[in-house]
Amino acid sequence: MNPKTSSLSQDLVERSLASVWHPCTQMKHHEQFPLVAISHGKGAWLYDHDGQRYLDAISSWWVNLFGHANPSINQALKDQLDSLEHVMLAGFTHKPVVELSERLSRLTQHQLGHTFYASDGASAIEMALKMSFHYWQNKGLLDKKEFICLKNSYHGETLGALAVTDIAIFKETYGPLTHPAHIVANPDARLATGNQSAKDIATSALTNLEALLKTQSKKIAALIVEPLVQCASGMVMHDPSYLQGIRKLCDQYQIHLIADEIAVGCGRTGTFFAVEQAGIWPDFLALSKGISGGYLPLSLVMTTDEIYQAFYHQDARKGFLHSHSYTGNPLACRAALATLDIFEKENVLEKNKVLAKKLSDAFTWAKEDARIIHFRQTGMILAFDIKPEHLCENFSKEFFVHALNQGILVRPIGSTIYIMPPYIIVDDEITHLSKGIQASLNATLSGNH
Ligand SMILES: *Cc1c(COP(=O)(O)O)cnc(C)c1O
Repeated sequence: MNPKTSSLSQDLVERSLASVWHPCTQMKHHEQFPLVAISHGKGAWLYDHDGQRYLDAISSWWVNLFGHANPSINQALKDQLDSLEHVMLAGFTHKPVVELSERLSRLTQHQLGHTFYASDGASAIEMALKMSFHYWQNKGLLDKKEFICLKNSYHGETLGALAVTDIAIFKETYGPLTHPAHIVANPDARLATGNQSAKDIATSALTNLEALLKTQSKKIAALIVEPLVQCASGMVMHDPSYLQGIRKLCDQYQIHLIADEIAVGCGRTGTFFAVEQAGIWPDFLALSKGISGGYLPLSLVMTTDEIYQAFYHQDARKGFLHSHSYTGNPLACRAALATLDIFEKENVLEKNKVLAKKLSDAFTWAKEDARIIHFRQTGMILAFDIKPEHLCENFSKEFFVHALNQGILVRPIGSTIYIMPPYIIVDDEITHLSKGIQASLNATLSGNH
């Protein structure tokens, strides 16, 4: 089942297994399932040392927007490398971080005009939670120190972010280390039965949220939500009316709204920010993953002038107490600027509308396949579930291996197969993807029912 490996690949894999502790991996499973050593990337493709190539259908964990070795991002980074690789951001500033902050502010029509930086997504979530709590402290609302998240939410894996993450395996293992959040109904559109619509499900989730707020709002600092698509919980999509509803409830009950756009931001859902589809702005918006084009670790939290002003004071303790060594790293900011340049110059959001339709059309077979339910799509995220009666043991890992053999990188989440390709994918790559996924599904499920 292993794709054939050269001695160089084999050597790297063995050394990796001996010395690298891989993320989100039970290392023992690599006794059965392959580890792939990648030598280089170009466009939508990743190449191993044998010249075998894999279409990166999940943008390398949702980070890569414009392909590997993108010429214009490469050029911007080479240029930046020759002027300034890094300087600390406390007491110092630099052009890439200033320009990036200004451009992000413009993208929110200056609603979220203050940006704080870190390196990874989980840290951005920590910052948003701390800022919300600290804001209420500064305002004298000392009881507001709890958070609300959605059922099955995912907001990262550091302890603060884990506290607002409702994924069973993490909870069971690390739950004792976290300060648990309130969990409210998920507006998962798949819950609709009979003649219910996605909007009905959203409405009932809002009722559930309001019931909690009615009794607990005085203790609550913020609600955190991944707008439009709960990605890590299996591309769970909801109606935009849910976002309008939570914006209203948050205002009414004096709670912050934190939009975690780490995965759904940067055009993934069709608009630059997912919240734009509901015509709302949150109090905090977190970005990471795609913002640097998938090049360098960069994350950030944007917030309003009102919140920023609550920290502006002579007293150091009223200021936001948070920093990371690489806060606002110039190279990462420059990669982000080059990424935003591509959005502007190449009219990416408009082009993605056409691309999203092509993806949908290419997967017509999946809409008609009797083994599949809940075919769904939001912009450049397409997903469907395998009916429980057709699933086999180790489905997602087996599927991953079959897809590798088809020259595709995809990693199902449980029984959900999804694709989240880079925005530069072209017609014959889409065909390769669709056919390869169908073949992988047949190979994985053959012999099962
Ligand atoms: C990936 C992700 C995070 C965490 O980001 P890391 O960079 O992996 O720490 C948080 N929230 C969402 C929605 C994500 O998809």
